[in-house]
Amino acid sequence: MLEPATLADARALADAAAALTADAVARCADLTGGGERIDEHQVIVDRVAYAATEARAASALCDAAEAAPADAYLTQLAIAGVAELARMCRDRLDPVAHDLGMAEVPYAHVKDALLRAGAEANVRALGRHVADTAGKNVWPLDATLAEVRASVRQFADKEVAPRAEHIHRHDELVPDAIIDAMGELGYFGLSIPEAYGGHELGNLAMILTTEELSRASLACGGSLITRPEILAKALLAGGTEAQKQAWLPRLATGEVMVAISVTEPDVGSDVASLRCRATRATVDGKAGWVIDGAKAWCTFAGRANVIAVLARTDPDLSRGAKGLSLFIVDKPRFDGHAFAAAQAHGGRLEGKADRTPGYRGMHSFTLAFESWFVPEDQLVGEAGGVGKGFYLQMAGFAAGRLQTGGRACGLSQAALEHTASYVASRAQFGEPIIRFPLTQYHLGRMAHRLAAARAITYAAATAMDADERRAAPLAAQAKLFACDVAVEVTQLGQLLHGGWGYAEEYAISRYVVDAQVLPIFEGVKPILALKVVARALLQPG
Ligand SMILES: Cc1cc2nc3c(=O)[nH]c(=O)nc-3n(C[C@H](O)[C@H](O)[C@H](O)COP(=O)(O)OP(=O)(O)OC[C@H]3O[C@@H](n4cnc5c(N)ncnc54)[C@H](O)[C@@H]3O)c2cc1C
Repeated sequence: MLEPATLADARALADAAAALTADAVARCADLTGGGERIDEHQVIVDRVAYAATEARAASALCDAAEAAPADAYLTQLAIAGVAELARMCRDRLDPVAHDLGMAEVPYAHVKDALLRAGAEANVRALGRHVADTAGKNVWPLDATLAEVRASVRQFADKEVAPRAEHIHRHDELVPDAIIDAMGELGYFGLSIPEAYGGHELGNLAMILTTEELSRASLACGGSLITRPEILAKALLAGGTEAQKQAWLPRLATGEVMVAISVTEPDVGSDVASLRCRATRATVDGKAGWVIDGAKAWCTFAGRANVIAVLARTDPDLSRGAKGLSLFIVDKPRFDGHAFAAAQAHGGRLEGKADRTPGYRGMHSFTLAFESWFVPEDQLVGEAGGVGKGFYLQMAGFAAGRLQTGGRACGLSQAALEHTASYVASRAQFGEPIIRFPLTQYHLGRMAHRLAAARAITYAAATAMDADERRAAPLAAQAKLFACDVAVEVTQLGQLLHGGWGYAEEYAISRYVVDAQVLPIFEGVKPILALKVVARALLQPG
């Protein structure tokens, strides 16, 4: 008979996973010359980066549980969640342990803790609790943040959730009523400094807002904040004072809706090879730039009033990322799936949305720019911003990735709640299906996987508040981990719905297709693991 597991077991396991992955990271750094030769060892590096991310999530989950010792549910989430994460780290590294020269059998010293914490009965108990409480999110927060979460939840339940299914099924555009209300409530300015018209409540408030909106709808709720967030952070990192004064207050109120345009039809992950050109020009006596070229997958480009376009200002392709600059490009708004705009001097911009199985409500466009004029003062950083676009875009993406961690948690939360209700009401073989141990186990896993995703995302948000640049790798880890969890949790939820989980009438079918996009954008998963997370982990110092 095993003794009951305690939080001390979870901490011992989190520490063991941290030590194991720290050793793997150090060996991997040696193997790759401090990250210089990642591409020669991609499979090993990917496994090490992912295991280190799981270990980081385990530590964050323990930290959260230890900070709220009276919260018995969070303690149980941490015990079961950390045990699974510790096992996952070990199993992920096992196939490459020989390549890394790791001879020791890991976890010998925490064998008993792993047996106690990793007992399947712990996960089933969690599942029963989740079903009894309808999966409600009661993560402990201080009074101010709890108030933020409660008020956004009320708004999202009332205004967003009732429209979400219709918008998804008919592939409609998110209604202005939602955007206007979000603007009035200040949701677009949560992490913009007060000096520029924002509310400066910090990244955790922004994440909680995103989570609650995404719980109601990924596309016509939580994702609306992502684009302004990316542009705001790029402006704060490298905009001139006049640009900050001009744009940030309008982003904070939602007056200006933004699209972000990096990807091109032939260039995705290899951003340094972008080809869309910006050339100096004077149009109607005004100095500026004209943009020519194709872009792809530009979400919200129709409805947006401005597109943040990363374009090549140095025609010498060998300059790579150093030849790119970031522009704030004005355009008229359009509500449909295709548009064409013209400027008096002959500039043209055309867009056509690519149909997608999920993430509907904002529409993602292929764009064609032809001599499209942008005034000089809309190059971020103006003269000083020439050639800095890549760096500024990446500063924006660090914030975008954190925000996407929040989107993933919100979507997972929606799947958890819907599944908890379903398994309590659906009966087979004469019993509600939650009475079956395997159902309890799956539901319990959904809950502790989400808890780990939430813990690392909140840890990243808090770290970003302290130092955005240093916290960028952690934000990338949060995005990497939470997005995978969203895919896993929504699919588990669908499984527990049986055939009805495949029916459009049940929201879980939408959650599944929505979640699948999360590991793709803002750095597709293999690139995020290799080029962002691993690079940060492996570089010296
Ligand atoms: C719904 C949706 C919305 C989007 N919204 C936006 C948006 O608003 N703005 C925007 O700019 N972009 C957007 N994107 C684009 C998204 O960011 C890109 O799809 C993503 O960056 C990957 O680029 P790609 O599709 O060209 O894939 P590729 O770069 O072609 O990669 C495909 C696969 O090749 C492999 N691969 C590539 N390079 C390497 C390598 N060096 N090492 C190992 N494996 C490699 C990986 O497995 C990768 O998954 C969106 C995409 C979608 C689907």
